[in-house]
Amino acid sequence: MSALILRGGTVVSGSDSKKLNVMIRDDKIETVFEDHELEAILERESDAEVIDVTGKLLFPGFIDPHTHFQMQASKCVTADDFDSGTRAALAGGTTVILDFTTQDKGESLMSALSRWHEMADGHSSCDYGFHMSITDWNEQVHHEIPLMTLEGVTSYKLYMAYPKLRVRDEVFYEVLKAVKNEGGIVGNHCENGDMIDALTADLREEGKLGTEAHPIAHCREIEAEAVQRYLMIAKLAGAPVNIVHLSTKAGLEYAREARKNGQKVMIETCPQYFFLDDSLYSLPDFEGAKYVFSPPARKKEDQDALWEALENGEIDTIGTDHCSFNFATDKHIGEYEFSQIPNGIPGVEHRPVLMYTYGVQTGRISNESFCRVMSENAAKEYGMYPQKGVIAEGSDADIVVWDPDYEGVISAETQVQNVDYTPYEGMKIKGRAQLVFLHGKPAAAEGQVIAKGLGKYVHRDKADLSFRKVGD
Ligand SMILES: [Zn+2]
Repeated sequence: MSALILRGGTVVSGSDSKKLNVMIRDDKIETVFEDHELEAILERESDAEVIDVTGKLLFPGFIDPHTHFQMQASKCVTADDFDSGTRAALAGGTTVILDFTTQDKGESLMSALSRWHEMADGHSSCDYGFHMSITDWNEQVHHEIPLMTLEGVTSYKLYMAYPKLRVRDEVFYEVLKAVKNEGGIVGNHCENGDMIDALTADLREEGKLGTEAHPIAHCREIEAEAVQRYLMIAKLAGAPVNIVHLSTKAGLEYAREARKNGQKVMIETCPQYFFLDDSLYSLPDFEGAKYVFSPPARKKEDQDALWEALENGEIDTIGTDHCSFNFATDKHIGEYEFSQIPNGIPGVEHRPVLMYTYGVQTGRISNESFCRVMSENAAKEYGMYPQKGVIAEGSDADIVVWDPDYEGVISAETQVQNVDYTPYEGMKIKGRAQLVFLHGKPAAAEGQVIAKGLGKYVHRDKADLSFRKVGD
């Protein structure tokens, strides 16, 4: 097949940015080359299609390591399924999402995995992989861990919260040891579930049932204790860990301390913890329900601590925890009690523009740091590098042509996400994905999907955590 050449752009990686041309053939990057080679290559590839991307940044396709599409909540299902969720991801420049497969009680991991494949296979417009959430641990499930590796699943998640999902500390310990043997990594939803229940019962008794009670039931101590406990268990298991959706300064301090003491601790946070704060829960007319997610939005002090951690390179990945529920219908299930509001917000589409505008354009982080937290680190941590996460010879031709000068405003009216609001309504953005290549094909342009259904399952390898040096 004839080649496609992206000419004149700046190729960004986690370590540098260079003016380079990129040649794509079929679904792979064939070569990356400097201007002085251009003439010879154009002569040889006389039928190549050349796209001029002068003035644009070329990033490896962004990776969102934390989504929940087509997820069944207790009384409803998420607004985005794999069809709309992966289209929204792609429109924003995200070419891989990692969703959470959840084992039901009594179910095998293989069965849970095939249920997720059924939902995603043939319905996805960006690539996808699965983390496995273990909710029912036993000998048989233990034996399935090596099978999961063969199926391309090398990352897991356990919950300390939610009655149907949470597991005991000893299960954390055993899963951490089993997954360590496979070279994988275990994430934890760090919230103390017993204490959420106890505080919720108190609030109910006091008649505090509105959305403003949500951050009280999920207060900072609830996360901080869970982070600390998880790190203690990981230390005893001698295993690396991932803290997903970290939201508090106190939790961050525990992670720092563990890193200093030689533990391998990966940290994920999400845009909501940079941009939304707990004053939103006091909005009138049940508007606060739009921001009910867990862990909840925190205070400025926590936001500042996370920005500082991002600037210092202490954050490894930024996921969205995209878990969308319609405000007009789903969120109203909890109109009479906050604890019944389905937890979650949309975000998969807007993560790149938010982090670029308020991270890179403000000078807080460089293009290279942005590349690391949006793509490269996740590719390594989740066993996809260098197939994903880098623009280099032999890598998948998943490339974002980024226009750093575009100016716009986030709005539910123009979003691809299939949900009736966005928590970032009205926020100004500078920069966006002008053109997105998936497997070498132009798949999205200027915020719209132009080629649907190209998404494939990513069979993942072991975790590569070498970018997080011990003691960092
Ligand atoms: Zn989640």
